Amino acid sequence: MCGIFAYVGKKQNAGDLIMEGLKALEYRGYDSWGVAVKKQDGQIYLEKHVGKIGQAKLPRLSSTIGIGHTRWATHGGVTRDNAHPHTDCTGNIIIVHNGIVENYTSLKKQLLKKGHIFKSETDTEVIAHWLEEKKKTDNDPLKLMRGLASAIKGMSAVIAFFPEEEVLYVYKYGSPIVFGQNNDGLYLASDPSAMILHTKQVYFLEDNEMLQLGRSGYELYDGHGEIKKITFTTLAYDQEDALLGKYPYFMLKEIHEQPKVIQNIIDTQASNITKVAEFVKKADGTYFIGCGSAYHVSLSGAYLFSKIANRHVNAAIASEFSYLESFIKNTSLVVAFSQSGETIDLISCIRKAQENKAKILAVTNVPGSTLYRMADHRLLLQAGPEKAVATTKAYTAKIAIIYLLAHELAGTIKKAKEDLRLAVSEIQRFLKNTDKIKKMAEQFVKHEHVFILGRGVSYPTALESALKIKEVSYCHAEGFAASELKHGVIALVQKGTPIIVYNPADETYQDALSSAHEVKARGAYVIGISSKNNPIYDDFIEVKDCHEATIIPNVTVAQLLGYYLALAKGYDPDKPRNLAKSVTVK
Ligand code: GLU
Repeated sequence: MCGIFAYVGKKQNAGDLIMEGLKALEYRGYDSWGVAVKKQDGQIYLEKHVGKIGQAKLPRLSSTIGIGHTRWATHGGVTRDNAHPHTDCTGNIIIVHNGIVENYTSLKKQLLKKGHIFKSETDTEVIAHWLEEKKKTDNDPLKLMRGLASAIKGMSAVIAFFPEEEVLYVYKYGSPIVFGQNNDGLYLASDPSAMILHTKQVYFLEDNEMLQLGRSGYELYDGHGEIKKITFTTLAYDQEDALLGKYPYFMLKEIHEQPKVIQNIIDTQASNITKVAEFVKKADGTYFIGCGSAYHVSLSGAYLFSKIANRHVNAAIASEFSYLESFIKNTSLVVAFSQSGETIDLISCIRKAQENKAKILAVTNVPGSTLYRMADHRLLLQAGPEKAVATTKAYTAKIAIIYLLAHELAGTIKKAKEDLRLAVSEIQRFLKNTDKIKKMAEQFVKHEHVFILGRGVSYPTALESALKIKEVSYCHAEGFAASELKHGVIALVQKGTPIIVYNPADETYQDALSSAHEVKARGAYVIGISSKNNPIYDDFIEVKDCHEATIIPNVTVAQLLGYYLALAKGYDPDKPRNLAKSVTVK
């Protein structure tokens, strides 16, 4: 959500670098964009637009310092005036911002009384005028920024560009910001995938820290204004990982990367899983939390832990967990799932759990991310950058991690590895020929609803499958615990309504088949996904039995279905409307 990119250094094409950086951040989701650079002649060049960057290019201009932003509107409509960067009345303070200034109304009132003229409806613009107002009495940008940090409420990452002084100041609380450097200059970005175009050596700013970048280098300050030494982290992925390669869309690329990602987890995570399992054993009360697909991982984990490890865990939607947290204590373990490690809804409830002294286990794809840094224990997905908004490889990677952990607790990790290997070869097998799924997707185009049924551990898979289809194809898809359908939604089933039934060869098999009969009797067009075909199915997709790990190839079928349905309807599966990849505002 929202992208920030900034540069100061020796290169003369700061504008192009910033545009390239914003393009790399596009996948996060945005509705407008803008860039401000100081030209060689001392003038400021500022350009803002509603919509996507597309093929847009800045005019040729020589510049060595500037900032850029892709906006995901929270306060004020999607208009050119509301797009960032925002300036003060003089144009000498230029701001880009990710997050929300919660107290902007009162700040704006005070600033209006002092005669400041506002050009936008955003909360962000108050930052520029607030700094302008304070600058009248104190010209030290560092002091100004420290004052700003205490004046604004809410989670934000702010870059203030002072073109006269040729410095950039960064303040971070809550929303992520990454700093990187190479021989040519200094870079800032909202996430590391934009940084790997330039360097693998990065520093993730901590909350309340302030970073100053200028011609003479950089200086980091802690929350008390004391200078702090930076220890850089090396990013684990390469430039090619962030590029499309031979694939038309990132979603398809990432679906195809799943066998490699899961195999890597099998090969490299065993010792970490063993260590983490010790903490899980010690915990009195374990909670799995996540948002969206990560919540479906949490729920899958609850089923897997119950069945495989004979352990009870509570799964909760992260944003709702805050309202359930009063029973958290110092022996509780909260397992937090987040691809980006920056999901604000998750981070806020982790903060609350930590106030109650709970221990945190982070399962994330981004080393150095906020969640990673907050956690007591960590398991990394090592899935490489995930760029399509709808998660695929990070979802199955999290399932693979939790699968290994459940088996480790049960003393059967060897079996987990065997099952996951089966899952890997099963995905590889049907990725070789996806024609059937493609054809099915083309038939779905004319339908208003698609329902997906599952029981036991296939229930969260049904939820995730429906979410995948909804996210990218905008088709109304709903996942259900198979038996729940008849408690209400069966009223929607008409002749021809497509209903997908997950029917793995486990304890749910007979009951899931009965559900297929019930909907078929009401005219549904039943698609069975199972290792065994059955005459009740109008259509059948074979997924070989991989024991409980069957949920991994099963969900891959739905990922492909969503992908091809989006294409059949003419949508871009990588950038669904209204959605953002990394949800960094509340
Ligand atoms: N709250 C700011 C706005 O609406 C920033 C939103 C963002 O993070 O993109 O402009």
